[in-house]
Amino acid sequence: MTFRTRFAPSPTGPLHLGHAYSAILAHDMARAAGGAFLLRIDDIDQSRARPEWEDQIYDDLTWLGLTWDARPRRQSDCTPDYAAAAQRLTDMGLTYACSCTRRDIEAAASAPQEGVPEFGPDGRIYPGTCRDLNLPMTESTALRLDMARATTRTLPAFAETGPAHTGQHQLNAQDLTATIGDPILIRRQMAAAYHLAVVIDDMAQGITHVIRGADLFEATRIHVLLQSLLGLPTPIYHHHRLIRDETGKRLAKRDDARAIAKYRADGASPADIRRMVGL
Ligand code: GLU
Repeated sequence: MTFRTRFAPSPTGPLHLGHAYSAILAHDMARAAGGAFLLRIDDIDQSRARPEWEDQIYDDLTWLGLTWDARPRRQSDCTPDYAAAAQRLTDMGLTYACSCTRRDIEAAASAPQEGVPEFGPDGRIYPGTCRDLNLPMTESTALRLDMARATTRTLPAFAETGPAHTGQHQLNAQDLTATIGDPILIRRQMAAAYHLAVVIDDMAQGITHVIRGADLFEATRIHVLLQSLLGLPTPIYHHHRLIRDETGKRLAKRDDARAIAKYRADGASPADIRRMVGL
């Protein structure tokens, strides 16, 4: 089997040790398999993406000794692809426009039911306020997937090879509705939301193996469902361990102290970075 994987950073801040681990792992796995390692710039959120962070990504990865096998794909160049996929799901009767703000969702959720999960991979689980309102799509609405309807169409399975969840995972309608709810496909005033974009990008880049952090394991269920609804192939997933700071907290974009650029400036070598992340 061909092996094509990718690293997909968002150019919204400096790459840190967690990114280094993810990129090196995916790169080394591709090279060991005689496959391809691709790069994608996840700049769909144009309000946060900056060209200088994109330049820094290329610079840091090159310094780490990583090479990629095709011109990087940039999400901002591919917006018609996302619109076409969203339209397909809409034509299937599986989407609705949603005008709720974050505050509306918080207010609707102020009386949580016992035993019902409050948070999913995207934060507060959407209470479904706009689901049956038939609102038109406008500048101030988002587009959501109607999960209950979508899961009557298909319930695929996916293979996972990462350390924490190795095995075959069958999607379950009740579980998806309760623990994810209706995910956003198109954000207000944006070309797409992450879940829709990533599925289209992975298909377009011919990705056979998705290698990324364990924090995305729950979101993978949304991606596999969307692939199945859109008739796209499902890659094999590998969710790797997360790099944490000394207090056990996962590194975030604002952890500038652990930015690769900072270690470079302090005289570290690429081999030092590999050692620091346990490779
Ligand atoms: N841009 C996403 C991130 O940095 C990519 C996640 C993925 O690999 O799918 O979290």
